[in-house]
Order: sequence, then structure tokens, then C-alpha cells
Amino acid sequence: MYNFEVETPGSVADAVAALGREDAQALGGGQTLIPTLKQRLASPSVLVCLSGIAEMKGVCRTDDGQITIGGGTTHAAVAKATAESFPGLSGLASHIGDPAVRNRGTIGGSLANNDPSACYPAAALGAGATIVTNAREIAADDFFQGMFTTDLEEGEIITEVRFPVPEVSNYQKFVQPASRFALVGVFVAKFGDGVRVAVTGASNDGVFRWTDAEAALSANFSAEALGGLSISDDDMISDLHGTAAYRAHLVGVMTKRAVTSAA
Ligand SMILES: Cc1cc2nc3c(=O)[nH]c(=O)nc-3n(C[C@H](O)[C@H](O)[C@H](O)COP(=O)(O)OP(=O)(O)OC[C@H]3O[C@@H](n4cnc5c(N)ncnc54)[C@H](O)[C@@H]3O)c2cc1C
Repeated sequence: MYNFEVETPGSVADAVAALGREDAQALGGGQTLIPTLKQRLASPSVLVCLSGIAEMKGVCRTDDGQITIGGGTTHAAVAKATAESFPGLSGLASHIGDPAVRNRGTIGGSLANNDPSACYPAAALGAGATIVTNAREIAADDFFQGMFTTDLEEGEIITEVRFPVPEVSNYQKFVQPASRFALVGVFVAKFGDGVRVAVTGASNDGVFRWTDAEAALSANFSAEALGGLSISDDDMISDLHGTAAYRAHLVGVMTKRAVTSAA
């Protein structure tokens, strides 16, 4: 590690001001950023700690039926608060990492980081969520822009995430046993006007929607509807944990399991 200053703002406005300092970076739960600092892969001179900002925490149901989650809400808190209202999201949150990760890591940090194997990007894209920042609202379809890349500007903070609540949903993760991240994860959400399917862990471009599966499932929401469907392994991740072809195969398997569990 090396020397840096820590700012502990109590409001979003103060955090945004602190992030205006040279070389400043937001610190959520630190589950990704602290190991990155330890490995000297990042070296901000100011860490702006978001964990003391009360307005960025909590889960509530809004009048329009959406579920709004503060960007600083931990995975454990999301899992608990959505267990009845949005079981697909609750199940996803409750299987992230281990208890230590779930009690420190935040939804805002996970989405901002956009790890290609992270779970929350699949839920946000799969449910068609809106990512709300201190400056604007960004549709999930526009937010994720490739591996570790998002539409966020320098110093922009995710203050909340708004999820439309599907009729049914489910997330299936084929766990990479060493890290607990997804070797492949698929989030399926069925709404009144159609089905959305988002895949994480598989693509070199990060999370993506499997539109062929969405069309098949919108016509017939059953695992059988996916029978003749396969996905190309072009641009899929290939590493020591699994080849591109293996991941492409897993996308089909996990999608069928998610549909069966949701239905
Ligand atoms: C052992 C282990 C296992 C894990 N397993 C999984 C898993 O199974 N599935 C999974 O999805 N994840 C997993 N994770 C990652 C975990 O979910 C982290 O919580 C998450 O990646 C980052 O969230 P954080 O709040 O800790 O962010 P931090 O580490 O504090 O920050 C990460 C990045 O996001 C930025 N940031 C943080 N908060 C915000 C905000 N509100 N607005 C804008 N930018 C922000 C930071 O500047 C930094 O660039 C695991 C992590 C560990 C250590």
C-alpha cells in the first residue's frame, strides 16, 4: 500500500465535491477496490468513502411499483429486503461471495465496477433497471459498455438503482469455485409485455442480453422453448476455468434452469 487521504462525506453533495479533488476515487464496500490498491493496480491519492452516506442506503417500494435500492446498500441488506418482493434479485444477492463480502460490498460498487463475471449487472440488465447517479438516470441497456466499462463519468456516483418488478424471475449461477463469481450466470425476468434474459461471466464484452432466447421465451415461457437454440462462442471468454465453447454451452443450460426455477 502507499499513502492516501480518506474523506468521509455525510451527503452525496459532499461526496461529489470531494471527488472533484485531483486523483480522488469513490470507495464503496472496498471488496474490489481495496485488493486493487493492495496489488498497486490503482493508486488514488484521495479515497472518498461512501459508507457513511445515509441517503444512499436502503430498499423501498415506490408508488409506481418499482423497487428502489440505494447505491450504498450492501448485498446482504438487498437479499433480506427483497426476499418477498423480488425473490429473483434476493436469491442473486444472497449468493454473492461469502458473508464478509455480502456485508461490505454494495450494489453501487458492483455495477460501477462492471466485472465481466459479476452477478448484479445481470440483474440490472435482465430486469431493465435504471441506474440513478448524482447527475442523471441511465437505462441499464445504455449503462454497461464492455468489460469493466460503464457510461459513468469521472467522479459520478451511483446513488440508487430502480428495478421494475417482474412477474417472475430467477438467476442461475454456475459458480467458479475459487472466487464464487459466475463462470456463467443468467438472469431471466418475465414481464407482462415480454421476457428479458441477461448473461454474465461469458462474454469478452461483459454482460449482454440474449435476444434470441428473449424472443423464444416471450412466445412460450418454458425451458422447452429454448430447445433448438444455441449461442455462438465467438467473443466468449476462454481461460483456465473454461473454454469459450464450454461457456456458450453453459449459457443454454443456465437459461433453461433459470426459466424452470422462475416458472
Ligand atoms: C472473495 C470475493 C468474492 C466475490 N464474489 C462475488 C460474486 O460471487 N459475485 C459478484 O457479483 N461479486 C463478487 N465479489 C465482488 C463484490 O460483489 C464487490 O462488492 C463488488 O465488486 C464491489 O462493490 P464494493 O461496494 O465493494 O465496491 P468497491 O470495491 O469499494 O469499489 C469498486 C469500484 O466501484 C467504484 N464505486 C464504488 N461505489 C460506487 C458508487 N456508489 N458509485 C460509483 N462508483 C462506485 C469504486 O470507485 C471502484 O472503482 C466478490 C468479491 C470478493 C472479494
